[in-house]
Amino acid sequence: MSSFLHRAGGWRRRPRIRAAVGRAAVGRTVVGRGGAARSRRPRERGNADGELERALLTERAQFARQLDIELQVACRSEAAARHELGIVARALCRGHAYRRLGFVRLSDYARERLGVSARTLHAAAWVATRLDALPLVTAAFDRAELSWAQVRAVCAVARPDDQEQWLARARATTVEELERIAHAVRPNGAGAGAADPDHDDGTIDSEAALRLRIACPARVRALWRYALELASRVAGEPLAAWRAAEIIAAEAFSGRPAGVSLVDRAVLACMRLARRSDSTTAARRTVTDPAASSLTTSVSSEHSPEPTVAPESRSVATGQAGATREPERSDTAPSRAASDPFALDARLVAAMRAIRTSEPRIGRLLRIVVDKHLYRTHGFASFADYVRERLGISIRKAWALLKVERSTRRDDDFAQAYDEGAISWVCALTLLPVVDRTNAAAWIARADAVTVRRLADEVNYVLEARDLCGADAPLDPPPLDSVLVSPVAQAIATSTAVTSTAAAATSAASVASAVTSAAAAAPSAASVQIGAHAPSQTLLTKFDTGRRAALEVCDVEIQFTAPVSVVALFREALDAYAGPGAPRWLALARVLQHVITYWEATPRHRDPIFARDGWRCIVPGCSSRRNLHDHHLRYRSRGGGNARTNRSAVCAAHHLHGIHTGVVRASGTAPRAIHWQLGVRSDGPPLLTYVGDRRCPDACWQHAPGAEQETG
Ligand SMILES: [Zn+2]
Ligand SMILES: [Zn+2]
Repeated sequence: MSSFLHRAGGWRRRPRIRAAVGRAAVGRTVVGRGGAARSRRPRERGNADGELERALLTERAQFARQLDIELQVACRSEAAARHELGIVARALCRGHAYRRLGFVRLSDYARERLGVSARTLHAAAWVATRLDALPLVTAAFDRAELSWAQVRAVCAVARPDDQEQWLARARATTVEELERIAHAVRPNGAGAGAADPDHDDGTIDSEAALRLRIACPARVRALWRYALELASRVAGEPLAAWRAAEIIAAEAFSGRPAGVSLVDRAVLACMRLARRSDSTTAARRTVTDPAASSLTTSVSSEHSPEPTVAPESRSVATGQAGATREPERSDTAPSRAASDPFALDARLVAAMRAIRTSEPRIGRLLRIVVDKHLYRTHGFASFADYVRERLGISIRKAWALLKVERSTRRDDDFAQAYDEGAISWVCALTLLPVVDRTNAAAWIARADAVTVRRLADEVNYVLEARDLCGADAPLDPPPLDSVLVSPVAQAIATSTAVTSTAAAATSAASVASAVTSAAAAAPSAASVQIGAHAPSQTLLTKFDTGRRAALEVCDVEIQFTAPVSVVALFREALDAYAGPGAPRWLALARVLQHVITYWEATPRHRDPIFARDGWRCIVPGCSSRRNLHDHHLRYRSRGGGNARTNRSAVCAAHHLHGIHTGVVRASGTAPRAIHWQLGVRSDGPPLLTYVGDRRCPDACWQHAPGAEQETG
């Protein structure tokens, strides 16, 4: 048997880069020992059994080897495509060339056009930039001597004068060891330019990351979903869940029940939050964020009515300076052809096509490796080791690929669309929570028909309705072009309407006044009652009585990963709202009721257009929520009227540098039947055409008038 293993080792190309490494050898001996243990049994059972087992093992080894080769090929072509992606993405970031294509933020372009996060583009651009300075490393990567993971580790530390030593080290050691050494040498990538945007060291916002989970009834999760949306609205930009949680906790403290004193830790955390808000605002002014920097400061204040936000809420608005970090800008002027945004876009789409077909393939093969523990056949003790050392992709990426792979297998249509690259990575992730056998085809068709922004809205809408109304609410896509009003907001509106019938309101009103004295003064105080919604009435009303709370089932949970201090702050907030002996989720429900009531009642700008358009830029795919302008589709100078159907909420950047410079065109009737053209050019069709949030690739592109400089 041991001789078989020896022979089996013959086909396995010795991992070139780890030839000298003891760690990998240790991993291999594990297999060796397992094989030796097994080899004792055939002697007792006779030769026939031994032959059979030997044949099976050979077959397994051959199978594993074939898989391994295919995986390596797929990962290598994926890495090559990623390098190309980085080179082109860097060019597109230079001078914000994506704005010429009709997008205000790189993240919007990446999501809508390429189906990836901006982080993916930034990470690839970072590697491309670093490789430019390291020709020897680049050559080794092009010869496929280095995996993507090795290149990233080397790029984090190497400089032109010591790249050769780092290259030698990369060849001689494991990726894990290499990453460890690199991190020890330059903890934050200092001295080697900006840090790797994709480096995951288990921290968020340079603090240890912690996951918070709270089990609760589904209706509380519906409140949570709506509170997240409101937090983004208040902050004026899309927020990660943990940033929203931070704002929710801070707001909860300011309206905490009478008699509860702030714990020191909470005070410190609130100060920290305010400080970070200041520093990110400052960074935003000086650095890069396209939506908020030079563009918006140039806007005259009377033309730029600030939406929604009360001063105290604004003070806790957090930035995303870290997430929108732009790659370094080179001073060398690129050639005209190389910097044409439309040509760059075509190259990016082509590179993404290669990645989109490689990734599902890698996921599919990885699933077999994991299910059958085939990594052991290659001498690796764990799947993570195999993925990192053999394939050179990050374990986080591998698990994400596996997760999507497993989920898409639930349905043939979904699996096929994903395999063929017909739905992007971002779309697949967006759809995972709602897709089942009965609705997969409908959701895939929907993903193809609308912007990713709208798709995410529809998924959120469906999930919120499901949480609020239970299994009665279908998971199917809502009707195309329908107006999506948050089910929680609907419930609030309905309950406000019935407030006059005193009996219905008493318990909820008492909850409201107990939870927040501020809300008690506001006319909409009674609107905290979340739930005159017919199908869920029993679930929603009178929910603050301890007895009913004890009867409710915690069948779902909310969870988010956040810096430890934010988790601590959130827990403090819950403690401030917790009743003696009451379950923890009840405090969560009270916190959410408080912030929703407060934010719903916060005075807003009176412009009905902003409210209609959801306090967000209405240009397809745009995620801007602040500095909204009221744009007249048919310019007033051309006889356009003030009717609401002629007006739309657009962000300052889109308004001044898109629509009124001719890069973006809008015509038709607001809000659903606006014809959009993004990336308008004189020598060809616009890059993208939409009606509302619907993609309209065949839309006639000559019908709009030429570029105007008039006001509207
Ligand atoms: Zn916009
Ligand atoms: Zn205008």
